[in-house]
Amino acid sequence: MPDVGPRVAIIGGGVAGLAVAWRLENPDDPTAPVPEVTVLEAASEVGGNLRTTVDGEFRVEQGANGFLDSEPATLELARAAGLGDQLIRSSDAARRRFLYVRGKVREIPTSPGAFLASDLFSWPAKLRMLGEILVPRRADLGRAAEAPDTDETVWEFGQRRLGRAFADTMLDPMVRGITGGECRRVSLAAAFPRMVELEHDHGGLFRAMIALGRQRRREGKAREGETGGPSGVLTSFRGGMQTLPRALADGLRGEVRTGGAVERLEPGDEGWWITTGDQRLGPFAAVVDSAPAHAACHYHPDAEVRELLAGIRYNPIVVTAVAFRREDVVHPLDGFGMLTPSTEKRPLLGVLWTSSIWQARAPEGTVLLRCMSGEESWLDLPDEEVVRRTCAELDHLYGLRGQPIRSWVFPWREAIAEYEVGHLARLARLEDALARTPGLVLAGSSYHGIAVNACMKDASRVADRVRDHLHARAAA
Ligand SMILES: Cc1cc2nc3c(=O)[nH]c(=O)nc-3n(C[C@H](O)[C@H](O)[C@H](O)COP(=O)(O)OP(=O)(O)OC[C@H]3O[C@@H](n4cnc5c(N)ncnc54)[C@H](O)[C@@H]3O)c2cc1C
Repeated sequence: MPDVGPRVAIIGGGVAGLAVAWRLENPDDPTAPVPEVTVLEAASEVGGNLRTTVDGEFRVEQGANGFLDSEPATLELARAAGLGDQLIRSSDAARRRFLYVRGKVREIPTSPGAFLASDLFSWPAKLRMLGEILVPRRADLGRAAEAPDTDETVWEFGQRRLGRAFADTMLDPMVRGITGGECRRVSLAAAFPRMVELEHDHGGLFRAMIALGRQRRREGKAREGETGGPSGVLTSFRGGMQTLPRALADGLRGEVRTGGAVERLEPGDEGWWITTGDQRLGPFAAVVDSAPAHAACHYHPDAEVRELLAGIRYNPIVVTAVAFRREDVVHPLDGFGMLTPSTEKRPLLGVLWTSSIWQARAPEGTVLLRCMSGEESWLDLPDEEVVRRTCAELDHLYGLRGQPIRSWVFPWREAIAEYEVGHLARLARLEDALARTPGLVLAGSSYHGIAVNACMKDASRVADRVRDHLHARAAA
């Protein structure tokens, strides 16, 4: 049993905070001192954006739908939390993805032949996309943090490399589907750093695909997806995504206090003090703040930090899950689901065909659809009205022959952080400002990646930062 070391508070019991807590309690170096960890969660249970509603035989995700199995940190933590046999892979059918373009649901082509035959793009647009291989590499890639004027939006990148039609038809709905945000605002370097790396290392995306394909063949990994290749297979847990934060919390030796929001955070001579409700907790040698920036900006002690956190934009998403008898939906729903570009001006960002993606999420003979809307006005509508509007759109998209047999509405007022152009420069300024209050580290999806995988990967960096601070404190 390792020695109990100094006390560390983790604000926020979402998956990011719990992963950091787990990393602190289970260092790679078994001789490293283990701090006494306390997790402070505002809600009545852990999980944050990972929430699963179980209603009879329906299992409905309120937030995240799954994660790609290409990030070893997520699988490692899941297995360490005892969930190895709970992992489930999405069905093979879910590899087919669709877009709603020019009034019709159309499949996204995944092979060169299907691309040439597809009516998703005009011939000039296809030729422009093929011309990507000739587009020169940008000279100033990778400098967005220190030179914000070199930061580029996802739309600018797409338009520069693959043409405007690609940016409007593919990238716009992808960014809306992932963040609820706007690809003409989102920073490529902050939200999709891998794209910057690929252009930087290989000179372009087609060149990168060719080089990485060769490399995979050399390594004998012929079929991406089956190998957990660069994109990976969409994965979840039998019991739904909330299984992960629950298991991480249950596996901690430290205390997890739910039902109390942190209201105040103060540095003191012996360490950090935290106020939640009528309790003042501390002193803590270090604090990891994994609450979203829109919450953290209210209680940080430093005015510049508060201002920088408050400047991170969040988009609303209303998730409406609707179940129908199978025969009441005309469309075959034979794939993952569908996204809609903003140019179509439809009320839904996209629809996940949940019962086609996962087994055992809906009773036999029924289908479960999870619809996402970015319409802010829907946040305050009664549930029945949200369901009525959603079903009107589903009828338009897929053809309905009957009423839903079940529905659930989950409004997320501040759903997902939008990493606008300048985000990396903002993070650099935050680092400088936080240096004035040592022992306070930010974690979670507001900063270094919005996906579950990004949070799980970043947890090791955050835990190392905390350990370095504890080490320096002990040596002082
Ligand atoms: C609708 C939706 C769909 C998504 N789909 C996917 C997906 O399919 N795949 C994917 O990888 N990611 C998806 N995401 C993103 C993913 O859910 C997040 O990246 C991840 O869950 C963020 O974890 P986190 O711990 O950083 O933040 P959160 O989950 O937000 O957790 C932060 C915690 O801090 C708590 N908190 C807030 N204020 C305080 C306070 N003052 N004191 C104490 N505690 C506080 C909150 O209650 C919360 O529990 C989705 C998100 C949403 C909203």
